[in-house]
Amino acid sequence: MTDLLLPDVELQTGTLDFLKAGPKKLFINNEWVDARSGETFETLNPATGEVLAEVALASEADVEAAVQAATKAFHEGPWSQTLAGDRARLLFKLADMIDEHADVLAELETLDNGKPFRVARRGDLPYVTKHLRYQAGWADKIEGSTIPVTFPNQFVYTRREPMGVVGAIIPWNFPLLMAIWKLGPALTAGNTLILKPAEQTPLSALYLADLIVETGFPEGVVNILTGPGLPTGAAMAGHPQIAKIAFTGSTEVGRKIMEAAANSNLKRVSLELGGKSPNVIFADADMNAAVRGAQWAVFSTAGQECVAGTRLFVERSAYDEVVDGLKTNVEKMVVDHGFAEKVHVGPIITEKQKDRILGYIDEGVKAGAEVITGGEPVENDNGYFVKPTVFAYEDDSLSLVQDEIFGPVAAVTAFDDWDELVQRANDTMYGLAAGVWTRDVGKAHRYAHAVQAGTVWINGYGMIDPAAPFGGYKQSGFGREMGKEAIELYTQVKTVWVNTK
Ligand code: NAP
Ligand code: MG
Repeated sequence: MTDLLLPDVELQTGTLDFLKAGPKKLFINNEWVDARSGETFETLNPATGEVLAEVALASEADVEAAVQAATKAFHEGPWSQTLAGDRARLLFKLADMIDEHADVLAELETLDNGKPFRVARRGDLPYVTKHLRYQAGWADKIEGSTIPVTFPNQFVYTRREPMGVVGAIIPWNFPLLMAIWKLGPALTAGNTLILKPAEQTPLSALYLADLIVETGFPEGVVNILTGPGLPTGAAMAGHPQIAKIAFTGSTEVGRKIMEAAANSNLKRVSLELGGKSPNVIFADADMNAAVRGAQWAVFSTAGQECVAGTRLFVERSAYDEVVDGLKTNVEKMVVDHGFAEKVHVGPIITEKQKDRILGYIDEGVKAGAEVITGGEPVENDNGYFVKPTVFAYEDDSLSLVQDEIFGPVAAVTAFDDWDELVQRANDTMYGLAAGVWTRDVGKAHRYAHAVQAGTVWINGYGMIDPAAPFGGYKQSGFGREMGKEAIELYTQVKTVWVNTK
């Protein structure tokens, strides 16, 4: 138990107590229960490779139990009678509880996921509660409309109703934030929820479960099932009583979720998937800001971000300046465990993922791309670290240019004219995000309209806000989270006809 912690790191008592409390169970109907099969799995600290906790592995029978609890809560329990304002009050209270426990939750994120503690504490956690409060604010503003139909004496109106039991399946890169992205609008709209965190990062969601009970949510409203995609996630995606799956993860698994939905009950699906986002620097840009922006667009969260600006296009006359600046900046980045004082880049989530990233680097070198900096693992550690890497390339068909690597790897190339730029920037199956740096306002907007992406940043990169819709074009998924659009994702419209005569 002691060696799971880094020797020079002092953790909160709450974090230590949580870790020492023994194996983690499933959270069903406001109770902690063992997996019916008795199976468990381990979650590791990617900075050390040590086991952090043993966690229950939910199989079909546990999914069934959670679905029954959530179904009952939706149709019969106090939740089904809760007024919109009361739902908001509970969600605001949960946000307050999360704020109170933010130090512990941020430590759990750093231990389980590896991300720098500074980022977890000052980035993820405040965003978690901002999002929850923003969504909760919609609870008593979900309105229908009255419709002027062509029939006489008919009063027609619409209601926006919850869907029922929502299943949320999320990835490991922002564990608590992803959980709350789904939980916020799902509960605001009056649904009940079954949440499956990623198997690599179950701890913050499990800690959240106790806060949910303490907040006073009725039983069955939130259920948390830990386990891998198979069997846990797949059993949710195929379950005939789950009305909707809200999924964030890879395009490959997103496709499986759609298949399972099609083959079970045609459940509603919203998909936030991968990306290979283009970031463009024109020669007239503020170069310091653009280079710094390009650096952080890729290397924050060690490149393990869906919106990472991994394809950098630079106007040829500025190319050498950008590449030199990027090399200088990137070589100053400190790669270390997440509690290290000066860390910029934490570990990769798993050994397997580290090897996958190194495989792409190797392939890139063999295919003739030039390594500007990095290109190797960080030696002498037990954790999973890769040096921030920048490639220069010309051939858009390289795997390192087409595939989502999900690691600290940037690919930079020069472009000569507008048509070439737009064609190459859009030459990807993905369409999640895009960036553009220029002082020419007209050009910036022209590019923002031409690029096929769900979010475009002009002279900035990576901002996401609870009020601003977020989601993909093309194979980066569909459905918009955040903003009022998020509520639409978790409700359905009913039209009511009233004969007034
Ligand atoms: P992943 O492998 O697709 O996994 C995502 C979730 O799906 C995990 O909880 C996973 O379970 C589960 N899963 C795996 N197979 C499943 C199946 N057959 N049925 C149901 N669920 C299944 O993605 P990841 O590697 O965790 O995350 C990285 C990916 O997520 C990247 O592609 C990234 O771009 C994307 N992402 C997108 C956004 C966005 O907002 N667009 C945000 C973050 C990440 P286990 O892993 O627990 O086994
Ligand atoms: Mg872990």
